[in-house]
Order: sequence, then structure tokens, then C-alpha cells
Amino acid sequence: MATRALGLITLNRTSECDVGIGLEPGGKTPKVSRKLFWVSKSQKDLLQWFCQRGEVEPGHVHGKDSPCFTVIFDKDGTPFESSDFTSNDRGYACSDNVVVEPNEARLYHYRIIMKGKEPLDPGGGVKP
Ligand SMILES: [Zn+2]
Repeated sequence: MATRALGLITLNRTSECDVGIGLEPGGKTPKVSRKLFWVSKSQKDLLQWFCQRGEVEPGHVHGKDSPCFTVIFDKDGTPFESSDFTSNDRGYACSDNVVVEPNEARLYHYRIIMKGKEPLDPGGGVKP
């Protein structure tokens, strides 16, 4: 199991298995720090999503109107044990283990659901 330090990542320095979720200026449309994630099966990578809405919505807090976001893999199947992940009271969500074989030609698109915001459908895949 890869050990990951929650809370130490900034949006402009995300690795391939970190996805920052923020908002476009205006606050209606979600944006992500990377449109495609890559998780390594052999490295036992976990994918982490984290909230960056505070950049556009000053005073945005967690634990009050939670969950902040939910991600759902219901388009192309899920590469993980689970197919949906919900942010915790700190604005983080972490995947569980990769359960599919690496295939860099196969993309898994997912939906980001944020209450009151437009949907966004980024994706990603599994590398060796
Ligand atoms: Zn949030």
C-alpha cells in the first residue's frame, strides 16, 4: 500500500495520481488540475482527489455542506475496487486499489458531482 501524505499537495504540483478539483472563474464550472490521471498498478498507486474551490470561493469550508464532491465511475467501468468516492470533511477523497490490468490505451472517464455546479467528466487510466 502506497503511503500518501494528505494535505501537503498544491494544485500546481500534482503528480499523475493527484487530481485537484477547483472552479473556473465565475464559480459555476468545475476544473481539474489534470484531465487525465495515471495510476500504476505495480506501484499500488492510489488516486487522490482534493478540493481547491477555496481559490474561487473564499470562505469555502468543509464539514458543513459536506460532501464537497463525489466522483463516480459509471461511464467506462471503474479501474478501482469501488466505483464512487466521496470527499471527507477535509475535502479529500482517495481511491481504493486498482483491480484491472494496466492498459494505457483504455481510458476510464468519471463524473465529478458538486452540488449546484455543472458536471465535469475527466478521465484516466492504469499504467504498469
Ligand atoms: Zn471543498
